[in-house]
Amino acid sequence: MSLSTGQDSVAMASLVPIPEMDGVRSPLPLGEGLGVRASEARAGAASFVDRWRELEWDDIGMQIRAKTTRDVELALASPRRTLADFMALISPAAEAYLPQIAAEAERLTRQRFGNTVGFYVPLYLSNLCANDCSYCGFSMSNRLKRKTLDAEEIERECLAIKARGFDSVLLVTGEHESKVGMAYFREHLPQIRRHFSALAMEVQPLSQADYAELKTLGLDAVMVYQETYHAPSYARHHLRGNKQDIDWRLATPERLGRAGIDKIGLGALIGLSSDWRADSYFVAEHLSWLERHHWQSRYSLSFPRLRPCTGGLQPSVVMSDRQLVQLICAWRLFSPTLELSLSTRESPVFRNGALRLGITQMSAESRTQPGGYAEGDKEELEQFAIHDARPLGEVADVVRQAGLQPVFKDWESFLGR
Ligand code: SF4
Repeated sequence: MSLSTGQDSVAMASLVPIPEMDGVRSPLPLGEGLGVRASEARAGAASFVDRWRELEWDDIGMQIRAKTTRDVELALASPRRTLADFMALISPAAEAYLPQIAAEAERLTRQRFGNTVGFYVPLYLSNLCANDCSYCGFSMSNRLKRKTLDAEEIERECLAIKARGFDSVLLVTGEHESKVGMAYFREHLPQIRRHFSALAMEVQPLSQADYAELKTLGLDAVMVYQETYHAPSYARHHLRGNKQDIDWRLATPERLGRAGIDKIGLGALIGLSSDWRADSYFVAEHLSWLERHHWQSRYSLSFPRLRPCTGGLQPSVVMSDRQLVQLICAWRLFSPTLELSLSTRESPVFRNGALRLGITQMSAESRTQPGGYAEGDKEELEQFAIHDARPLGEVADVVRQAGLQPVFKDWESFLGR
């Protein structure tokens, strides 16, 4: 399916059904030995953690389900949409308005971002991890061949990525403080930076001082997905390691803001909790809080759905394609300036269809294992199976056929950073 016009977008939006909800939220105590992290999470000023503790998961879910068609119409008509409007736009009541919501999402996206889609690619540096997450192939208890790239291997990987045409990379590692912590980043970031005009990271949450230091080495953006804002689900899926400390993770975006990182990526992993609508609302609360307190940074958002991985986990809720379209469009209406990213977790058909509806960033040809570009696919090393394996050229052609320009480089370092 190709959505090359606004009408096509509306056609994509006139697809499928509805989900169910549940959830009990309880305060989660900090893990053992995490006192230092906790004190930094709360150092000084206000923290989103405090706001998060005030929000009642079940109540949020009920409020969303109680939204009416009138609420949806008011949200659609509003010139400046609120959190209550976002609730209405992701509600079951909004499903009947998907064509209008999609048309408005497309209009706002073109108005703010023009006819462009940026391309990036993940560069997996290591699959070592000291955490156990029920949904991830890199979990320490999985019997997986472990690999961390050295300087020579990184160089080969960078050259292989450049040869494919990418100029923006997302560095990914498992969370392993001693093997792929600050010492590793200090050593290798400058080397990688020399090859690319934009550098993002998706690694273990770090301190404010560490982020500030990485910024001086060329770091532009950090993605730190909360996975789920539902404390019991978070505890159920994070079984061992530092990631069990939900407060530390929740406060990571604000540490990034204080460190002056240019772009901060948020998101929840859809399918971990059984209420994707409530989780999405919590992300919206988080974004609103950050935009108020750290307005100098830009924000981006992803909406990953659980994919098969080593040790496989069934999603608690299956979100349909139609519901994901609704969510993407609701985000655009709520925040016209937010970057929305769609990865190769999604199928070619879905990515082609959703392209014009709010998406501003796409990955392509992704390998989710260290060494995947220079040495070829090695399934036994990968984090999860991707769904869209098309080469970059093919995806870029689809973007052009949709009337958009694929953008590989949008910044020159001599312009300052
Ligand atoms: S999700 Fe991240 S922290 Fe959890 S096992 Fe995978 S790489 Fe490690």
